[in-house]
Amino acid sequence: MVQIVPRPRLDLPERLYRLDELGTNLWWSWHPRAAWLFRSLDPVLWETLDQNPVMFLRYLNPERLRRAAADPAYVTAYDAVMDRFDALTQDNATTAWVGRHEPALVGRPVAYFSAEFGLHPSLPIYSGGLGVLAGDHIKTASDLGLPLFAVSLLYRQGYLRQRLDADGWQLDVPAELEPWGEPTTPMLAPDGRPRLVEVAFEDPAHPVRLAVWVVQVGRVPLFLLDADVEGNPDWTRTISSRLYGGDKEHRLRQEIILGIGGVRALRAVGLDPAYWHGNEGHAAFHLLERVREHVAAGLPFAEAADRVRRATVFTSHTPVPAGHDVFAAEQMDRYFGHFWPQLGLGREEFLALGRHDGSGDGFNMTALSMRLSDHRNAVSARHGEVTRRMWHDLWPGTPPEAAPIGHITNGVHLPTWINDREQDLLDRHLPIGWRDRQEDPATWEAVREIPDGELWRIHQEAKGELLEYLREYTRRRWASGLLEPGQVVASGPFLEPGALTIGFARRFATYKRATLIFSDPERLARIVNNAERPVQIVFAGKAHPADDGGKRLIQEIFWRARDPRLNGRIAFAENYDMALAARLYAGVDIWLNNPRAPLEASGTSGMKAAANGAPNLSILDGWWAEGWAADAANSNGWGIAPDGGDPERQDAAEARAFYDALERQVIPRYYDGRDADGVPTAWVRTMKEAIRTNAPAFSAQRMVIDYIRQLYLPAALGEGKVPATARRA
Ligand SMILES: *Cc1c(COP(=O)(O)O)cnc(C)c1O
Repeated sequence: MVQIVPRPRLDLPERLYRLDELGTNLWWSWHPRAAWLFRSLDPVLWETLDQNPVMFLRYLNPERLRRAAADPAYVTAYDAVMDRFDALTQDNATTAWVGRHEPALVGRPVAYFSAEFGLHPSLPIYSGGLGVLAGDHIKTASDLGLPLFAVSLLYRQGYLRQRLDADGWQLDVPAELEPWGEPTTPMLAPDGRPRLVEVAFEDPAHPVRLAVWVVQVGRVPLFLLDADVEGNPDWTRTISSRLYGGDKEHRLRQEIILGIGGVRALRAVGLDPAYWHGNEGHAAFHLLERVREHVAAGLPFAEAADRVRRATVFTSHTPVPAGHDVFAAEQMDRYFGHFWPQLGLGREEFLALGRHDGSGDGFNMTALSMRLSDHRNAVSARHGEVTRRMWHDLWPGTPPEAAPIGHITNGVHLPTWINDREQDLLDRHLPIGWRDRQEDPATWEAVREIPDGELWRIHQEAKGELLEYLREYTRRRWASGLLEPGQVVASGPFLEPGALTIGFARRFATYKRATLIFSDPERLARIVNNAERPVQIVFAGKAHPADDGGKRLIQEIFWRARDPRLNGRIAFAENYDMALAARLYAGVDIWLNNPRAPLEASGTSGMKAAANGAPNLSILDGWWAEGWAADAANSNGWGIAPDGGDPERQDAAEARAFYDALERQVIPRYYDGRDADGVPTAWVRTMKEAIRTNAPAFSAQRMVIDYIRQLYLPAALGEGKVPATARRA
């Protein structure tokens, strides 16, 4: 583990003094007993502070700690948690998965770059799916004992906190991140001052200085670069403040900080990755910096690029063209005019690294990544086909199906995303140590034996909690005097625990078609208003601050939710973040996803819902094209085949298919055939099938093991390292 500088010690009772250390390692967040050590001290304060142990320990009444230190039950629990926590550092090489199964990777760390990481709601350095996936990836690396250093930026204003005004228009409120109230620790130089690294923008004579923070995620350190450093010109200090904020110029500077600054930060703290993984194209400048290092060590460009390629993994995450960063040649001239000579290249050769049909003479970050990484993947089987079609021209004469891009389907970190009640239930029914073998379908066979009533009861409890959470959120906003009555109505006060509840939450990009379900308003009204078999829908999701189209979709749902004809059965829940997400996945009955195929690269929210026993009702695109088990008797959800043809026809046909599936299959299975205790046995069978089949196949543990076997091993053994003497300090 990396040596980090201790934070100022809190004044804790001697017997419990390591609570502080526990609170600064996010490991606590996926170990319910560790979380209990905090929550049980003051449950109300814990929730008020977004379950942030760093803030919590600062605001907690010391009397509560003194009492806990004198409570034998608490102290026993504390010792047990700390024993497990200490085992993290001790059993690394020999007993963790990687040591036992792939010892070649012990001592060969990977550097994992991502523009965002979703680790916990209280650390707002993520916007959505990509970040949560990166967070799940590194938590799993920690669980498996995979040596990994993660790199990203410290966004002091996070992404955005979403509020809707009285018209349903999204207001983008910054989410202030105060590093001293977070598990972020500054990296210091031996003289005790912040350790700084430099990157140049347009003017190499005046580089920008970056501070480096570290967040410990179990065994994995996550390094965060921060341009808000004293002495930097004012205009540079906000560059790392807003995730996906600002214009193209801003974005380019952020990506220079992430890619080039990221490599330099690892070097500055003395780390020497054996291979590298770029999660999406945002970090692609790390490739150029590494080529530069090899060239500085005396290699010609071609050989340097070859070394970098052999040791690099690249994952592409979207088939939507706008999802790939392209910078204008003119911009690249200004920012890289002083850089390309250091690669031994001229302007034309340099710009050619980012060239791609469809990007004009712009510099495409995905093309750069594809060219300088030998180990490439998409994130589902279907997305693999689409990605090969999009990029095969980078290998002239290669037909799409032969393009050297594979796929590894995404997965989710089950200990983070399966709610505590279900984890208790699984602890009682699955084989001991099931978390260590969660990728093995055999581990989940015992889900079939869980008594129907038990699974149904914990699901009803989770649903009650979701509705309570939505109500309390709205109550607080109402009590602060900031809401109009119409906003209260739109937030779901009439939702009821007995009604079949559909969840739909995602980024409001147009291809996700959030309003498809409203395309036949009369038919939808008949479905939701059925007095004996009511249906309700909870929507959530943010639009990018610059995306007025997405904001209009949110507004449309807001107005539908207020429409008396829909009986208060539609709700829009504000501020979709990891906290709301976890409650939604656990509390809704069914998860809906109706993207326009084939634009859903994978999707992961449906995996999280399924693992919580909420079957999917979704278009067969992305992960669901692999996850759906059509076998009627044992179905694990419902798949809607995408309809070819022009978009309008496609929308109408697919909307009809959704209504049909709801009326003929989903609703009857939910309401019919209840046993004497009111348990819908056929429905519970579907819930169990969702858990049994989807949880192992779409666990992050399965995903990371796939990365290890298919991409990490060859990259780690590709020997693309820079000689130690040639690296700059
Ligand atoms: C899982 C998750 C997502 C991604 O869901 P998609 O299915 O890809 O839309 C987005 N936001 C949050 C908060 C999540 O937890």
